[in-house]
Amino acid sequence: MLTPNVIPDKEPILNVGIVLPEDQFTEIRIEIPSTPEYQLTDVKNDILNLKNCDVLKFGITEKVISVIINDKPVSGSKSWTIKLLEPYAVMANKSGLKVNGVVAGRGFHWVKNIDVYLPGSVELRIVDGVLLAVNILPIEQYLMCVATSEMGAECPPALTESQTIVARSWMLANIEMKHRNLQLDVCNDDCCQRYQGTTYLNDEAVRGALNTYGKVLIADDKICDARYFKSCGGITESFENVFGDEPISYLQPVVDAPDSFSHEALPLDSEEAVRQWIDDVPDTFCSPHTIPKNEMIKYLGSVDVEGEYFRWNFRYTQKEITALLNLKLDLNARAIIAINPLQRGYSGRLIRSEIEYQTKDGEQRSIEIKDQYVIRQTLHELFLYSSAFIVNVEDGEGGIPLAFNLKGAGWGHGVGYCQIGALGMALKGYSTKAIVLHYYPGSQLKKIY
Ligand SMILES: [Zn+2]
Ligand SMILES: [Zn+2]
Repeated sequence: MLTPNVIPDKEPILNVGIVLPEDQFTEIRIEIPSTPEYQLTDVKNDILNLKNCDVLKFGITEKVISVIINDKPVSGSKSWTIKLLEPYAVMANKSGLKVNGVVAGRGFHWVKNIDVYLPGSVELRIVDGVLLAVNILPIEQYLMCVATSEMGAECPPALTESQTIVARSWMLANIEMKHRNLQLDVCNDDCCQRYQGTTYLNDEAVRGALNTYGKVLIADDKICDARYFKSCGGITESFENVFGDEPISYLQPVVDAPDSFSHEALPLDSEEAVRQWIDDVPDTFCSPHTIPKNEMIKYLGSVDVEGEYFRWNFRYTQKEITALLNLKLDLNARAIIAINPLQRGYSGRLIRSEIEYQTKDGEQRSIEIKDQYVIRQTLHELFLYSSAFIVNVEDGEGGIPLAFNLKGAGWGHGVGYCQIGALGMALKGYSTKAIVLHYYPGSQLKKIY
């Protein structure tokens, strides 16, 4: 595991959560590949030799994890480790242990179960009566896998390299540590960074990590908390507006375009300006002007199927929005009257919003929603793409709209590195260094191990 606030001087080993307690797994099936060698160790470190191509089925029986190897029950233990005997085994596409049915996109609208191939070792433990699966591996191998999981296989080198530097910095800055209670450095999903082992690994991602080995972004003698997201919609947001904390010098709004770019809506300091910006498709690095929609598919990771990142639309009928907000906010409303912006950030992202509604008794009330995360969670069955949106209503009788049209920009929180924008920069020929310094102004690129 990583040690908080310490800049490592050699390559660290990571613990990555693959199956979490919230997945509620009581069984896991894992296949041993044809190479290299593995062994199985129990809680007392007793060794069971494994053969290549063995199939292991783990399940919880009477508070221990039982294991069946090739349909033969073996024994039970409180924990198991499938240990790779050559920690720096060759990294190749679909190399390593195959784990069946892992959850990808937990809690998001693209949630699904996929089979993943994992480098390194895998440990299984029981937490709250269900299985926890942890992948233990050197950070550079993890980064090779993250680079390809986040983006598709056709990415230009400067994108893969910049993405790897960002992921390494974020990981080593180690600010969030969302799963410290489970002794994990990160989980495998978008809650931390998406990791699907070697499942989609390509030579490009391996080269991306090797070419940037040990390189991170530094500011004020610390590794940068290098946040990133899918698409900014043309301008990024400041750290304080999204995460509600003290400002961070290198996480300030950046217009995602060359210095020569100008747009009459900028700065987005009024509702009119935000409306003008979102109604337009400005020629920024992440816009369809730079990367046409039908070409995007070549560059995207395999889990995302939707292609509408830069500008998007959602229409809710009165009945749908009332049902949604009654469920999310426990309003007991008869009708929704308005969704009003109260405060926006530099990129038009809503920081505070107000819902006006009519109660079942016919009274008019309003409720405030704070925080872009809560706004996104509230206004979609699962999660709205971003909080940078405007609302157009279709008028109905007695001041009750027939429908609400949400028109928005970007996908994600909008702070730091814009992945689609970085792709646009790489396609335009910008260097790896130019890309990372564009999104984290004032930081420096440095090799630490
Ligand atoms: Zn996580
Ligand atoms: Zn962008």
